[in-house]
This record gives sequence, C-alpha cells and structure tokens, in this order.
Amino acid sequence: MMNDNATGALDVLNGGAAPRLRMSVAGRAVPALSGETRGILNPFDASLVALAPEGGREDAAAAVAAARAAFDAGDWPGLPGAVRGALVSRLGGLIERDAENLARLETIDTGKTLEESRWDMQDIVGIFKYYGGLAGSEGGEVVASPLPDTTSLVVREPVGVCGMICPWNYPLLQAAWKIAPALAAGCTMAVKPSELTPLTTLRLAELAAEAGIPAGVLNVVLGPGATVGAELAESPDVDLVSFTGGIVTGKKIIAAASANVKKIALELGGKNPNIVFADADLDAALEGALNGVFFHAGQICSAGARLMLEDSIHDEFVARLAERMARIRMGSGMDGATQMGPLISAEHREKVARYVALAQEEGARLELGGMVPDDPALARGFFFTPTLLTGCTNAMRIVQEEVFGPVISVERFASEEEAVARANSTVYGLSAGFWTSDAARQQRVSSALRFGTVWINDFNVYFVQAPWGGYKQSGMGRELGRAGFEEYTEQKHVFSNHASRPVRWFGI
Ligand code: NAD
Repeated sequence: MMNDNATGALDVLNGGAAPRLRMSVAGRAVPALSGETRGILNPFDASLVALAPEGGREDAAAAVAAARAAFDAGDWPGLPGAVRGALVSRLGGLIERDAENLARLETIDTGKTLEESRWDMQDIVGIFKYYGGLAGSEGGEVVASPLPDTTSLVVREPVGVCGMICPWNYPLLQAAWKIAPALAAGCTMAVKPSELTPLTTLRLAELAAEAGIPAGVLNVVLGPGATVGAELAESPDVDLVSFTGGIVTGKKIIAAASANVKKIALELGGKNPNIVFADADLDAALEGALNGVFFHAGQICSAGARLMLEDSIHDEFVARLAERMARIRMGSGMDGATQMGPLISAEHREKVARYVALAQEEGARLELGGMVPDDPALARGFFFTPTLLTGCTNAMRIVQEEVFGPVISVERFASEEEAVARANSTVYGLSAGFWTSDAARQQRVSSALRFGTVWINDFNVYFVQAPWGGYKQSGMGRELGRAGFEEYTEQKHVFSNHASRPVRWFGI
C-alpha cells in the first residue's frame, strides 16, 4: 500500500477529536483543492464524527482525469479477466477481514443498527467474490457467420471510465453493486459517495490499494451533488454514469449525460406495494409487513411502505401490526437491543413529518406514531416513531410518492383484479410483494405486476446472483447478477474475411 493513501476514515473509530478525512485520487489521499471541509454527523446524536473534504468540480475533474489515464494508459483494462478477477476477490477478502470496522463506520455514518451493518458487509464480501469469479468466466462468443470464408467473434470489453454517484442509505453496499462489477469488467472509475456518508467508501479505496488494484483505477471524490455529481454526469471523459438515488436527481443525470451521449445506469426510488390476500399465512405476512419497512427506519428503496390488505382481514391485520409497531425499540445502532435507528438528518426527518401531515390533510387516519419520540435519550438524534396510516387511497401523495421513512400507508381492496390494477398505478416499478397460499394466484399476480422484482410470500429479499432494477421510472438497466456485470461492458463484433479479394463495387 502506498504510504500516502490513508484517508483517515479508520481514525473515526478511535474516538477523540473528529479527524480530517482525505479523498482518494490517483492513489493519493488528498484534501479538497479549495481546502474546504464539511462536518459529518452521527445521526444518533448529531455529534461531529469527522471533517470531510468538500470537493468541487475541479476535484471531480481530477478524479476523472486519474481514471481516464488509468484506463487509456494503464494495465488494468488489458489484464486477463482471471487476473483482474483474482484482485477483485482479494479485495472481497480484505473487506471480510475488516468487516467489523467497516460495519462500525457504517453505523456511525448512517445510524442503522450494527447488526444491519454487519449483514451489509457480508453481502458486500459476497458481491466482490461473485464478480471476481465472473471476471474470469468471460470467453466471448463465436457466431456462425452467414458469409463464406469468414469468422465472426463477439467479445465484451470494458465500457471505459465510469462516474458513480451513490446514495446515503446503503453507502458501501450501493457503491459495491457498482464498483465490483466495474472493476471485474476492466473499467476505471471516479466514485462519489453521498456527502452525508463518506466513511466506508473512503476505507474501501484504501483496501483496494492494499489488494493490489493499481492507483487511479478506483478514485473516490467527495462533495455536493450539484457540483461534484454534476461534473461526473457531464464530463466528456466519462463513458458511463451509474447513479443510485432519487427520481428528481435521476432526471437531472439523464439530462447532463446526454451532452456526450454517455451510457447511463440508473437505480431510482420505489413505492413498493405489499399486498396481503385473505388466504395468506397471516403470521408470516405480518412479519413481512414489519421487515418490509422498518429496516434502516424505512430508508430503503424497496421498502414495502404501501401495504394493501384484502377487506376481510383489514381490521385484524391493522390491529396486530399497530401492536407490533408500538414495540419497536429505537436507540443507538451500537446498542444490541436497538431495533430501529434514526433517520439520516434533521432535514430528512422534516420531509417525512410533512408527508405524514399531508396524508392526514388528504383524509388518511393516523393510527400510530407520526412524531418525534419524547424519550430524552433520543432527543439529540433524528428519530421518528414508527407510523401507521389507514384509510389511504390511490390518489394520495402518501401512496404515490416515496417517503423514505418508518411510515406504512394502508389501502384496502375487494378483489385480486382491483389489487393488481391499483398496485400497478404508480410511476415507480422497483419491487412488489404479495402473500397468498393459492398457487394459481401466485402465477397470475406475479406476471401481472409491472415491477423489476416480485416477491411471493416474502419481502425485501435480494442476492447477488439475481438482477436488481426498476421498471418504469424506477430506473434504467440492472445491477447485480450477470446483467450487473454486462452494464460495464461494450460488445464488440470482430469480423474476419479469410478470402478477401477486390469486390469492385464502385468499378475502376
Ligand atoms: P439523492 O438523489 O438526493 O442523492 C443521491 C446522490 O446523488 C448523492 O450522492 C448526491 O450528492 C447526488 N446528487 C444530488 N444532486 C445531484 C446532481 N444534480 N447531479 C449529480 N449528482 C447529484 O438521493 P439520496 O437522498 O442520497 O438517496 C435516497 C434515494 O435513493 C431514494 O430515492 C432511494 O429510493 C434511492 N435509492 C434507490 C436504490 C435502488 O436500488 N433503486 C437504492 C438505494 C437508494
């Protein structure tokens, strides 16, 4: 590892004064060119945990230039896939070695429980190992040419320099979904974590260097979306921009990326229906309704925040759900007894509270929660109580828009047709789940739902082997699975004529 590669992220775990972090550009740990910094807060108690460089467009341009040089003049894209894959897998091994420290950094940054962060790290290890293995498995494809005395070969090549813009809810996990396949494919990259949650991505840059991934291949640049993110989306030196975040920002990325027709991969939000039919195992469905929303205080793109209940089970299900929600224990993510941590920021909590107030103005009934908890131990953090709204209808904004908080809106339905039609009446199409014991209904409903992932008798399950992504305005392209690797490749058709002779098309 280069000595000047230390970003300071690990120093956060030492306690004491908030360390000054550095970004990782061209294998060197650097401050923002302007020298500016931003305070990183722990959402549990709003304490200052670090001072992060507040980069600008010039820092993003430097990160892109480093990635461009590593792609155009470096060894990385041309290494045999298996050699690259071994380094990607080795990086997975280092993440495994350091999983506990990484999990602690993630909990400090996001407020989520340490148990959730530990799961995230195990997922991330699996992602790097999966794509490390896939890198060596690419062998191209021979196509039977229809023309005599010719051969036709289709190969995959790295797409080039990637700009990666990541959200704050799963900082390292969402970054890993991009970085691991892109590295495996032979791309180089400038990665921008959310300005709120830089710690684990900075540490990843250090681990990449330790794994032997060459300087300049993986650059991490920090700063606001409007400058650093916009530069990555606009830069003519970026070949592909991969973005995970909200739909409004996603539309800006599409516009910015159109300037040089760069490739775009978008993972945008979701408003995900969770439909419970009366013939379901209701105990399992109840657990599914809780698990579908309250991980990470509902700050999950696939949260089943839109609960749809068949008429005949509605009242009992709501009563049981409210009883369970009232018992969710809030607290520090570092405390093993905590089941739900805070929201990411005071600003985000205000947004969630506004949605709950708006739902009531639109006619929804507040059954539970909808407030800042009165526990003095939580007073400095950005907590919001688990919230249950009933009497919701399709037209309400609480049903149609992403709240990204610990809030469930409940709709009722009378028939399968009504449930499917209503579930599909959204601009989003990320994920949906439904609960039924009827096998024929499982087939009918799963094919009728217009979502990138459909869960039958479960919710919020994903793994690296299967693709993840959205129908409709939930995104473009897929992450995870083989499709998530192919996003970072271009296909090239190499055609050879073995009996070439003048064709005299234009005469002499
Ligand atoms: P966001 O859109 O506010 O920000 C995401 C990233 O984009 C951040 O790094 C931000 O700095 C950057 N950004 C902001 N403005 C930009 C601009 N003009 N140009 C370029 N970059 C810009 O989203 P967020 O609040 O960080 O994350 C929450 C959102 O992410 C939710 O909508 C959630 O559904 C979505 N999300 C989706 C998935 C998925 O897999 N589909 C996964 C996680 C999160």
